[in-house]
Amino acid sequence: MNNITIIGVGHVGLVTGVCLSDIGHQVICYDLDKEKMDQLNTGLSPFYEPGLDELLKKNVNNRRLFFTDSPEEALSDADIIYIAVGTPKQLNDDIDLTYINNAAAMIGEYTTKNNVIVVTKSTVPVGTNTNIKQAIQRNAQKTRNITMVSNPEFLREGSAIRDVFCADRIILGSDCSEAAAIIEEINKPFNVPIFKTDLHSAEMIKYSSNAFLAMKISFINELANLCEKVGADIEEVAVGMGLDSRIGSEFLKAGIGYGGSCFPKDTHAMLKMSEEAGEKPDILKAVMKVNSRQHYVLVEKAKNYFGSLKGKRASVLGLAFKPHTDDIRESPSIMIINELIANGVSVVAYDPKAMENTKKMIGEKIQYASSIEETLTDTDMVFINTDWDEIKTFSLDQYEKLMNRPVIFDGRNCYSLDKISEYKIDYFSIGRQPYW
Ligand code: NAD
Repeated sequence: MNNITIIGVGHVGLVTGVCLSDIGHQVICYDLDKEKMDQLNTGLSPFYEPGLDELLKKNVNNRRLFFTDSPEEALSDADIIYIAVGTPKQLNDDIDLTYINNAAAMIGEYTTKNNVIVVTKSTVPVGTNTNIKQAIQRNAQKTRNITMVSNPEFLREGSAIRDVFCADRIILGSDCSEAAAIIEEINKPFNVPIFKTDLHSAEMIKYSSNAFLAMKISFINELANLCEKVGADIEEVAVGMGLDSRIGSEFLKAGIGYGGSCFPKDTHAMLKMSEEAGEKPDILKAVMKVNSRQHYVLVEKAKNYFGSLKGKRASVLGLAFKPHTDDIRESPSIMIINELIANGVSVVAYDPKAMENTKKMIGEKIQYASSIEETLTDTDMVFINTDWDEIKTFSLDQYEKLMNRPVIFDGRNCYSLDKISEYKIDYFSIGRQPYW
């Protein structure tokens, strides 16, 4: 059992804290947001993540997990500190390291132990761990020896707990083998393969992995658009491709482009890193260009179908950037909504979990419905933007019944074309032939 401090209690920090306490460590989590810390100490999560509430309650109740907004309480006795603060994109697309730098300054100011290991979970550009170490040293009051371990996180929102317990690998990058061995020991109970490497390579592995996955998505989306033109079906093509073990079937789902808090910002950060290093990141640029275009293919199909969208009423099913999360950061659904509004469409939307976050982001620009049925009622077209189970299994006869004249623009290929052909529905999806 180790005593561990975590700085930053967002998706990554909270899930990390909960999972480390669940395998037996004593964990104290620190965040600036006092209200959030108070709520967490009662066992209530500030965001939706399957399975999180149960594990949170269990470990808060057995006193292995504690939350505080006092940096002194979190850091003064700490010798193993995880940094999990956000590294968002700035308006100019540069990565914002303010939170990282603040966390580093705080570690220097408040730690009292002579030897401290700092583990970076946040996704940071190559070289940042070295800068963090220097920033801690500059502020250090009592701590003399700081060793850095880069431990990039690979969890996915919506399956975060499972992803931690059943990860494909844990990456530990360090220039100190003793520190890496201590963090390896902490992670042993997860029973996940551990790959130890140097600091810079660990930082690079995270960006490379996300950029590669983003590339797979843009590649299949580009193929999907071609399939529509040449009379092929992207769903069939993806199955056939995925059977080749060199390609693999994961991340070959055509749709409306990637979103979320990671892929967009990490591809931008990698682009910047490459350009600063004097490289020409042509593949990465294409990945991002294809993705931006893909967010709008459904609206283009709607324009082609109706001629003009002005004065129409659209329902939007799904707001989160993917199912099983309430996160709408860089969600393609929000981009589609903004594009519809710009084309003079009035929008009514529904999502099982992401309505509150959407209200906070775009407010009363749209109407909100409390069920799929209510969303569809008296609308001219529907956009399926997130493939929640509730949405993709929704009965097709209800579209016929509730809409003015049923027209579906399905960004997630929820329905088979055979099934659609049983109904009087005009149906447009991604990478398949339209049905109308
Ligand atoms: P988040 O925005 O959900 O949470 C960050 C938290 O850090 C916030 O609660 C904020 O209040 C807190 N914070 C900021 N500055 C602080 C400070 N000085 N002291 C204490 N707390 C502070 O971010 P996230 O989604 O958890 O992402 C964290 C990092 O992990 C990012 O670098 C991200 O790229 C990476 N990551 C995220 C995911 C994901 O799915 N969300 C997956 C893998 C990696």
